[in-house]
Amino acid sequence: MVEENKANDYLCEKDGRDHGHTPEGATWGTLLEELKPRGDIGGSELQQAIGDRSGLIVNNDPSHLPSMLFDEHNVELFDNVHPINWVDPENDQGKYDMLVIGGGAGGLVTAAGSVGVGARVCLIERNFLGGDCLNTGCVPSKAFLKCANVVHGARTAEQYGIEITGEIKVNFKTIMERMRKIRAHISENDSAKRFSTTLGVDMYMGNAKFTGANTVEVNGKTLTFNKACIATGGRPNIPDLEGIQTVPYHTSDNIFNITTQPKSIAVIGSGPIGAELGQAFQRLGTKVTFVCRGSKFLPKEDRDAAQLLTD
Ligand SMILES: Cc1cc2nc3c(=O)[nH]c(=O)nc-3n(C[C@H](O)[C@H](O)[C@H](O)COP(=O)(O)OP(=O)(O)OC[C@H]3O[C@@H](n4cnc5c(N)ncnc54)[C@H](O)[C@@H]3O)c2cc1C
Repeated sequence: MVEENKANDYLCEKDGRDHGHTPEGATWGTLLEELKPRGDIGGSELQQAIGDRSGLIVNNDPSHLPSMLFDEHNVELFDNVHPINWVDPENDQGKYDMLVIGGGAGGLVTAAGSVGVGARVCLIERNFLGGDCLNTGCVPSKAFLKCANVVHGARTAEQYGIEITGEIKVNFKTIMERMRKIRAHISENDSAKRFSTTLGVDMYMGNAKFTGANTVEVNGKTLTFNKACIATGGRPNIPDLEGIQTVPYHTSDNIFNITTQPKSIAVIGSGPIGAELGQAFQRLGTKVTFVCRGSKFLPKEDRDAAQLLTD
């Protein structure tokens, strides 16, 4: 039995149960192959094309299809954090000790920690495992910031006794591709496969809905639990500004999809996320204007630190 289980990658190494799996050979890469001849990899039309193929996603709500660019790096990312045609586990063992809704940083840590102390755990994610942090937050932003730092270092190198001759050019497309590559590489840690196979968490990919005090419904199945953790995160707040719906705008959810450097951008909000993105774009050569509600930039930070950045 153990040998048999070892032969199947998707069976949990710990207990031999199937905690959810991708059908053998299923990968978003098949879709990439299909799209390649169109020559629009990285173009905005591509996202529409993925939307048309909602039939490929069996368990999941089609409104939560990957809305990112489709290239080899994002195929790796999607295969890890939003596997195509994911098959939920057969829950034949009754109540979960811990049911976690949301597979972002909070949910993943809760699931891994609970399983680590011996609990029967399930995790439900409707979109991308890794949530904001991996997909649209900490990871892509820090990879992006690094490039801005490097170019700033190169431009100010003389102060450090280093002479750089010739023009310092920014290749924005490469910067964004590097970010996608790093994100894809890191995504294995948050992958459905790792959580199901290695950690033994029952992984459900779908929209969770409470149906009772101790029941949650996902993909037509009812799961019961002793304890539940709601780790459903947040989403960007679109300010109620007159005319905003008539202009194209980005939020942190999709800014890391762009492949062409904007000549200029206005950043609404002067908290840490806006500040770091704005500074990075500015250093890379985009003209950045901050729009702040109050009179202070980075209003919630220590004034001396915030003043440094303001200056
Ligand atoms: C640009 C940017 C940079 C950042 N940089 C940093 C940083 O450097 N350091 C730092 O500490 N923080 C940073 N953050 C903040 C950090 O990313 C978030 O605080 C953190 O990711 C929140 O994690 P979470 O698990 O609470 O929620 P999320 O990551 O939002 O995860 C919630 C998950 O729940 C899922 N979900 C929601 N409803 C349901 C449902 N009904 N059924 C199933 N699933 C559901 C969602 O799909 C999502 O995947 C940054 C954020 C941004 C946007």
